Amino acid sequence: MGLVGTLNGGPHMTKHDAPLPIRVIVAGAAGRMGQEVVRAVLAQPDLQLVACFDRVYGPEVVPPASGARMASSLAELEGVEADVWVDFTVPAFVKTGVSWALEHGMVPLVGATGMGPEDRAELAALAERTGRGCLIAPNFALGAVLLMKFAAEAARYFPAAEIIELHHERKVDAPSGTARLTADRMSAVRHEVGLPSEPLEAGEEAIAGVRGGACGGIRVHSVRLPGLLAHQEVLLGGTGELLTLRHDSLSRESFMPGVVLAIRKASSIRGLIVGLENLL
Ligand code: NAD
Repeated sequence: MGLVGTLNGGPHMTKHDAPLPIRVIVAGAAGRMGQEVVRAVLAQPDLQLVACFDRVYGPEVVPPASGARMASSLAELEGVEADVWVDFTVPAFVKTGVSWALEHGMVPLVGATGMGPEDRAELAALAERTGRGCLIAPNFALGAVLLMKFAAEAARYFPAAEIIELHHERKVDAPSGTARLTADRMSAVRHEVGLPSEPLEAGEEAIAGVRGGACGGIRVHSVRLPGLLAHQEVLLGGTGELLTLRHDSLSRESFMPGVVLAIRKASSIRGLIVGLENLL
């Protein structure tokens, strides 16, 4: 006989061994990313949107026929059974929501950026204590994940590198989570091969901040402009040569294949992991 229960406890099956849909709550459901996730989940027959969570709703976040509960406080979510919590809220709230989801037996998939190392350490400890998995993915776009991988590989061979990340003007955090993670991955490789942990010093700053901010051995420059969505360039300088890696997310749909993939693999996550590449 098959099992019925949460994904965390094992296979999520009916008594006839047909898989049940994976039950999803979207947090930040009324936001730009949240709405995209709601559409993506509703479009997949093996996923079930059981609830939306946001502090404010505009008109028509979810088609009424979906049957999903619309909650604007965590208290209103009590009693909702779900397997996965997809979080695209804001840096100020994300830790509260993810902690709540872990304590309620869900696997949080965190797209919201801006959490620092201390928040991550706290969530890792909570994931450990509750025996749940948790994914923090600063970028769900497959191309951006590949760019990070290629940048880390290239960091081994180039003495200096800088990152330029470019986003729309309403992004609340800087640098982007993707830039931080890229810089962390590149710094780890630089450390491994004995490259300096400080960025290349070149010239005085006549204007404060003009050389960007240091993230390990890598300088990061954050551009915010209307018209942009999410873009990143990694420039690696060598002797008489420059390697430029660039990724552009041209629409929010670009993140959805990664989000859907992570929802489907959520039950296999153990403890807290950072980066979608861990599931590829
Ligand atoms: P947004 O402002 O459009 O959406 C955020 C939503 O969260 C809003 O609807 C807001 O009402 C809600 N919210 C804020 N505080 C809340 C609270 N206390 N309780 C409940 N809901 C609350 O922002 P966005 O552009 O959709 O981006 C959301 C996050 O996703 C940002 O951190 C952004 O950097 C990140 N992001 C990640 C990826 C990725 O691939 N991981 C891609 C794009 C954006």
